[in-house]
Amino acid sequence: MSRYAVDLGAPAWEYAPAPEARELARLGTVPQGRLFIGGAWVEPADGATMPTHSPATEEHLADVAVAGPADVDRAVAAARDAFPAWSALPGRERGKYLFRLARLLQERAREFAVLETVDNGKPIRETRDFDVPTAAAHLFHHAGWADKLDWAGLGPAPRPLGVAGQVIPWNFPLLMLAWKVAPALATGNTVVLKPAETTPLTALRFAELCEQADLPPGVLNIVTGAGATGAALVRHPGVDKVAFTGSTAVGKDIQRALAGTGRRLTLELGGKAANIVFADAPLDQAIEGIVDGIFFNQGHVCCAGSRLLVEESVHDAVVARLQHRMATLRLGDPLDKNTDVGAVNSAAQLARITELAAAGEAEGAERWDTGCTLPDRGHWFRPTVFTGVAQSSRIAQEEIFGPVLSVLTFRTPEEAVAKANNTPYGLSAGIWTEKGSRILWLADRLRAGVVWANTFNRFDPTSPFGGVKESGFGREGGRQGLAAYLVPAGEGGA
Ligand code: NAD
Repeated sequence: MSRYAVDLGAPAWEYAPAPEARELARLGTVPQGRLFIGGAWVEPADGATMPTHSPATEEHLADVAVAGPADVDRAVAAARDAFPAWSALPGRERGKYLFRLARLLQERAREFAVLETVDNGKPIRETRDFDVPTAAAHLFHHAGWADKLDWAGLGPAPRPLGVAGQVIPWNFPLLMLAWKVAPALATGNTVVLKPAETTPLTALRFAELCEQADLPPGVLNIVTGAGATGAALVRHPGVDKVAFTGSTAVGKDIQRALAGTGRRLTLELGGKAANIVFADAPLDQAIEGIVDGIFFNQGHVCCAGSRLLVEESVHDAVVARLQHRMATLRLGDPLDKNTDVGAVNSAAQLARITELAAAGEAEGAERWDTGCTLPDRGHWFRPTVFTGVAQSSRIAQEEIFGPVLSVLTFRTPEEAVAKANNTPYGLSAGIWTEKGSRILWLADRLRAGVVWANTFNRFDPTSPFGGVKESGFGREGGRQGLAAYLVPAGEGGA
């Protein structure tokens, strides 16, 4: 038992299981061993496949194709062929396709939510209430922009760049697809997208939506595979623009590969956000924000509030309330509608979280977890909090990408800013205080692309999202996100 823990009685509510129907995922219809190229389902040149598993049960779900260089070539050629007609379509016509995709996604929302939960391991509550609706919102938002680009303040008659090569991670597979595909198509680009190797299924299902929406062949192509497929795509000379979301290490590799080619690049990389709580903050509200900030999606969130900076005078009170709240989190079957914390996405990610948590302990921080029972099979990690964390500790500096919170303290606003900015990352930050002037003072000084005040993890397609420093460059969402797919005013293009 932690020395901060308050005995407010055991959170002893028992819930009857409330499982969502797994059959809705229609796993039997996944186009196994096929790539979506030029509007058709094709086998990879060498017939290679790779399995995808359920992180919660480790059961085999499907064998998806592995695209090699010849397949990437074919996909880029299909996107190139489709580009002249797609980019020449009036914006209102492109918008109609995007509206259709958004509506079809809403119609099939439950199916997508269940499929995502089965393939990714995240709770159905999140896929149902966040991932799928936010993906649809992104498509709707950009559908609305398609015929208004002339009025977006991005120069007269803005032109698309050409073929976009897009590589996405496994933490929000469908949502990251929507963030990438919607602005690219709305602005008249064509796309080759590679989903992450552990979560390819919703991208393949989205290709089915494209068929259902009669999207012209080649406008969106999906190539599955691992890092080698991504590397072949981003290096392909027929790709005019690369959009990558993933780890900082791979982002740097891509930036090196593209240097001097003149091809455009946006990078959405890792983070180590500070969630800063002042003594005057509404603490109960802040506790909810802290819990949401780090335990949402098992902490597999680039902008997760993984460092809690708390004013020293309220440290013990905050940690006590936090641990009490954490003890109510339900970990288990992601398909159960009662579940708050699902499975870690892969054995490799679980090993990384385990290693970093052990390093935190070895470096002298005090470790506490909820002690909840873990299922027998699958990849699981208990919600964990470290107190007494030194700034130099690995768990204060490195992205853990798991349900692990590091708590540090401060005494003055200046110290909070110095500590918050003391990582190589700069993606997001949170501020909890009742003083508006303090929020503005801090937001000005925090080196982060996104700053939330008295809330956390809020996303809206109208609001640009992206990082500074080693969290990358470029923005997704808002007008800024459109600009990343358009030839800058005064420059030539495809
Ligand atoms: P990762 O970089 O290992 O993989 C991301 C994608 O890149 C996958 O599709 C992978 O197959 C592909 N890839 C791997 N090696 C490649 C290479 N050499 N060239 C091209 N593509 C390659 O990252 P991950 O472990 O899948 O995702 C977690 C990371 O993503 C975390 O660091 C997280 O912070 C970051 N992320 C950032 C954002 C953001 O918006 N900033 C959003 C989500 C995730």
